[in-house]
Amino acid sequence: MEEITQHDLLIIGGGAAGLRAAIAAAEVNPDLKIGIVSKVYPTRSHTVSAEGGLAAAIKDYDSLDQHAYDTIKGSDFLADQDAVEYFVQHAKEEIMQMEHWGCPWSREKDGTLAVRAFGGMSVKRTIFAADKTGFYMIHTLFERTLKHENIKRYDEWYATKITTDQHGVTGVIAMQMKTGKLHAFSAKAIIVCTGGAGRMYRFTTNGGIKTGDGMYLAYVAGASLKDMEFIQFHPTALARNGVLITEAARGEGGYLINKDGERFLKNYLPEKMELGPRDMISRAIMSEIRAGRGFKSPYGNYIHLDLRHLGDQLIKEKLPLVREIAMEFAGIDPAKEPIPVTPAQHYTMGGIDVNLDMETSVPGLYAAGETNCISINGANRLGSNSLTDCLVFGKVAGEKAAQEISKKTSKTTAQMKTALEDEEKNIARLLEQKGSESVPAIRMTMEETMDQNAGIYRDQKALEDGLNTLLELQQKLQHVQLKDKSKIFNTELINCLELKSMLTLGEATIRCAMARKESRGSHTRSDFPDRDDKNFMIHHVVTKKDNAMSLTNAPVTITRWQPEVRKY
Ligand SMILES: Cc1cc2nc3c(=O)[nH]c(=O)nc-3n(C[C@H](O)[C@H](O)[C@H](O)COP(=O)(O)OP(=O)(O)OC[C@H]3O[C@@H](n4cnc5c(N)ncnc54)[C@H](O)[C@@H]3O)c2cc1C
Repeated sequence: MEEITQHDLLIIGGGAAGLRAAIAAAEVNPDLKIGIVSKVYPTRSHTVSAEGGLAAAIKDYDSLDQHAYDTIKGSDFLADQDAVEYFVQHAKEEIMQMEHWGCPWSREKDGTLAVRAFGGMSVKRTIFAADKTGFYMIHTLFERTLKHENIKRYDEWYATKITTDQHGVTGVIAMQMKTGKLHAFSAKAIIVCTGGAGRMYRFTTNGGIKTGDGMYLAYVAGASLKDMEFIQFHPTALARNGVLITEAARGEGGYLINKDGERFLKNYLPEKMELGPRDMISRAIMSEIRAGRGFKSPYGNYIHLDLRHLGDQLIKEKLPLVREIAMEFAGIDPAKEPIPVTPAQHYTMGGIDVNLDMETSVPGLYAAGETNCISINGANRLGSNSLTDCLVFGKVAGEKAAQEISKKTSKTTAQMKTALEDEEKNIARLLEQKGSESVPAIRMTMEETMDQNAGIYRDQKALEDGLNTLLELQQKLQHVQLKDKSKIFNTELINCLELKSMLTLGEATIRCAMARKESRGSHTRSDFPDRDDKNFMIHHVVTKKDNAMSLTNAPVTITRWQPEVRKY
């Protein structure tokens, strides 16, 4: 490889958003040199584990306005409504595009696309491919990228830095994990598609790779993070280990039952029952458990997800992965026994602040997918909007970046060489340094702190304590000693870099949560139980200033839907 590899466009991340962006850019300009840097082989991105489906108003009984309203209401009126309107308008064409690229969506008996119910959606509008939607989508997208010869992949390369000069981005420094060698890639534009940061928490449905690296890299490069206090907890993860049991299980008719055999949601969401939004159902489950109506177990108390009445045939046909997970990870056949479930961290609503063109405030730096915050999710995402979000806004990012690049001349590479040398020194120092701290110990304390102090319920004291712990852990990380000194697939080194990202993002989460003295969507302050539109119809924006976190506000864009009491 040349010392500096030249690309026009570099995409960090090979999940749904990254692959969709790459295809869009390649279609705009087949001569662009496009690179995808991904720390895992693209088809192992977290997208592959998405189960339930993706939303779009495709049926005659549905409408774009209804999808927009449901999304905005779901967001507890914190979504930016111009972004939501764009999203719903372009959702259907993306579903059709995927169909034409060969994605095997499930069908109704008459051959039309099948849809299922999902929480907080007023009608059935979630398109799916059994309960392995993400699996089929990522393979469809991956295959499509192979058609474009101008897309080059760097699989199992870990991006450690986004480089900039006074005009904007200049490139990316990344490590080839199998050799441990760092390399500089120059680029005229960069799209960050690195997914969420759920691994800040211990009890999470997120894959081990979801460590928020891109949010951190963009933040260090000068971009802002937005709405970091909003973390989604999914109501139904397997009680023992947090593996997701998709909302499709309730969409197909599953019940939530407490230890008294009661469908307790009748006391919380009598109209919506199991199809209420995630924030409300998660709180209802926690209330039942706290009131002693959960099942006790040494690994935490839980409630039951009962699918028995759906029958063996429907479960096998529409929920094969739920069945497989229940059998493999809990030894339970869901046609015969209820599944023990409890809420777990699931989605990062906040992320890199972008405008409707997916641009950050750093020229040439874009972001799409779970890693960005446009925001269509506001304070609470509706299940099945995200996969569509990756397609709709991944495409926008790819197109906009490709169009802007054609106006640019090539960048100087002298500054990239210095950046590469600096990064080589940083990594060498990390590998050699002596110290008393260990990566796993710091990570475990961080996860416990986030679970306990910044979980479903928060208050000032818990948040302050949590912040102090994270700041201490950031100090400890400076004195870490790595046991593994090898260059080849040094996962301890990678874990250490990921930990640095998460400690910063955890700090942002807690600082925003402390500032938001109200309860809205997924953010429940026991000390401020009501929504406060007068003071908090705002986004929180976090920026790096003089090596510290600066917190400011930004207005919420309202187009046609005024905030109202959020009742289901
Ligand atoms: C279990 C589960 C089920 C879900 N089910 C649904 C569903 O049914 N419907 C729905 O709408 N949403 C669902 N979601 C949410 C949705 O799947 C995700 O939000 C979405 O897939 C994220 O896609 P992405 O492209 O943004 O990121 P990801 O798919 O997470 O990909 C991130 C990419 O970034 C790369 N990367 C990260 N850091 C680095 C680095 N430092 N250097 C290089 N590369 C890096 C990774 O290699 C990876 O390729 C689910 C989520 C989970 C966890």
